[in-house]
Amino acid sequence: MENESVKCLIIGSGPAGYTAAIYTARANLKPVLYEGIEPGGQLTTTTEIENFPGYPEGISGPQLMENMKQQAVRLGADVRFGVVTSVDFSKRPFHVVVDGQKSLEAETIIICTGASAKYLGLESEQRYKGMGVSACATCDGFFYRGKEVAVIGGGDTACEEATYLASLCQKVYMVVRKDYLRASKAMQQRVMNTSNIEVLFGHVTQEVLGDEQGVNGLRLRNATGERTIELAGVFVAIGHHPNTELFKESIRLDENGYIVTEAGSSKTNIEGVFAAGDVQDSHYRQAITAAGSGCIAAIDCERFLLAQ
Ligand code: NDP
Repeated sequence: MENESVKCLIIGSGPAGYTAAIYTARANLKPVLYEGIEPGGQLTTTTEIENFPGYPEGISGPQLMENMKQQAVRLGADVRFGVVTSVDFSKRPFHVVVDGQKSLEAETIIICTGASAKYLGLESEQRYKGMGVSACATCDGFFYRGKEVAVIGGGDTACEEATYLASLCQKVYMVVRKDYLRASKAMQQRVMNTSNIEVLFGHVTQEVLGDEQGVNGLRLRNATGERTIELAGVFVAIGHHPNTELFKESIRLDENGYIVTEAGSSKTNIEGVFAAGDVQDSHYRQAITAAGSGCIAAIDCERFLLAQ
């Protein structure tokens, strides 16, 4: 097996990873960044981003990520295509394997592996992914202008997606398995005040219906039996899961699987391992907050190495 030693290894390539790369490169830590399965992360699945400061006209998600990558590369970061497949944090330098074959020693590691949308796990949902089943209203809502759609879930994300879709679509059903919404009061209010959203409380999705054209309905069950609703699109908004499978034996995670960082810093329970972005943040989950935490991790990492 090839072996290589690096000062700072960054795992993951969303806004947190690229920002950490920009800062550590400028600090002369010669960072090596592995992009992972989805280079650019979740933002590459969105279209227009209007709330990332510095882009008064907005910018597309893929373009924003490409810009961040180019900036990191220009400043000297070594950005590589590859997936970290195992880690050993038991001693420093840490030992990491990439793509199951390349061995690497790293003095410090910044974990920026992000989070992914959860799905219901139905076979029919899987079948119509990209053909009417989506987990991102801002990415795909545009395709359902003037049509009827459903959002599944009752949290803040579901409410946000439903109100966004209501501005484009003729009608939005919210399919909520309990008899209440988990979302904040303010978000619930927004949903209730939107005339073309109908909340179906106590409804569980049994099947996504469709044909070769894509989705055309949902089969639902409630306490009194089953019903079918006709629609053109289904947006699953039942939360996210952090991409921490790789680290679950080696680092402290919270009850939802997110990496625990010290308050106000990116430090994990392992000295020399830092975490940034959605992998340690279930609450804000914004490109700008992820980028900000990538900067924090880079500074923490630099100070850690200086103190050695
Ligand atoms: P949540 O975990 O808060 O909510 C998930 C929702 O999906 C719940 O209603 C849950 O139902 C439902 N659900 C989960 N699994 C299933 C399933 N298998 N079938 C049907 N329904 C299911 O996730 P969110 O993504 O909404 O929010 C995550 C965090 O991000 C929260 O802290 C939230 O406040 C925050 N956030 C804040 C925003 C803002 O402030 N603007 C915007 C978006 C998110 P049940 O209640 O029955 O478990």
